[in-house]
Amino acid sequence: MPRTLTEAEKQVLLAAPRGYCAGVDRAVITVEKALDLYGAPVYVRKQIVHNKHVVATLESRGAIFVEELDDVPAGATVVFSAHGVSPAVHAEAATRGLKTIDATCPLVTKVHQEARRFAAEDYDIILVGHAGHEEVEGTAGEAPDHIKLVESPADVATVEVRDPARVAWLSQTTLSVDETMATVAALRERFPLLLDPPSDDICYATQNRQLAVKEIAASSDLVIVVGSGNSSNSVRLVEVALEAGAGAAYRVDDATEIDPAWLTGVSTVSVTSGASVPEELVQGVLGVLAGHGYPDARAVTTAEESLIFALPVELRKDLKAAGLT
Ligand code: SF4
Repeated sequence: MPRTLTEAEKQVLLAAPRGYCAGVDRAVITVEKALDLYGAPVYVRKQIVHNKHVVATLESRGAIFVEELDDVPAGATVVFSAHGVSPAVHAEAATRGLKTIDATCPLVTKVHQEARRFAAEDYDIILVGHAGHEEVEGTAGEAPDHIKLVESPADVATVEVRDPARVAWLSQTTLSVDETMATVAALRERFPLLLDPPSDDICYATQNRQLAVKEIAASSDLVIVVGSGNSSNSVRLVEVALEAGAGAAYRVDDATEIDPAWLTGVSTVSVTSGASVPEELVQGVLGVLAGHGYPDARAVTTAEESLIFALPVELRKDLKAAGLT
């Protein structure tokens, strides 16, 4: 049985950056301002961001989350989530006369534009991503006849293209950087003329959070990642922490999910959070650690972030008309 550690033998490292990215911040503020401006209910197609606490908070203010546009009454206002939608969804909303506000993260929109451009040049596009993820469905919908999904290096051998000399790749924004590079290396081996996207598709926030957790994982007996189970970037943080040498790593939605047994014999605990996680949930985890005799956390900062995105143009216009800017 491990001996009980003294307080002096315990430490908490807090990864920075962590938590909200610019795209999530914009999407959440979009729903809040839409509720202020138009009044409840405001419909939101899919979870605005993949965090159950954020969704529950917005629900309590009058947002109604729906899976598809069929569930939105005629004439209502609907917000599209940060993960983006396919052109077919925009078209359906227009046909049904819905008022739409598009909270798609501009970094996802960039990937959609890349997909359209490669498709216009008649390239086959290999999209590296997770089947069924909303972002992948939205991006694939930009060029359904040109896009093939590949989830891992193992899929590369079987993907079919029309002309191996005219193949480009794109990716979901929230993947593991290392795993994606392994997939791209396998693609390039099979298609030596593979065309790269003009800039990284894995977004700055995903990359920064992975680098930050890597920095502290090897010296951690335990890494706690705050984030929901359907949050791709949060789930990746657990994987990255383990690959980087953490003794153990677990994802929790909030402090109530911490199993005290995880802390047995643990000297160094590191804490981080996914890009859709409000900071108060991280503070709740630190509070539980304090209750188990851990000292105040020491921040380990590997990058500074200052990016802010403007709100969706259609919302800004209505806010201005209402004298609310
Ligand atoms: Fe945008 Fe990246 Fe945040 Fe997704 S994780 S909303 S792509 S900044």
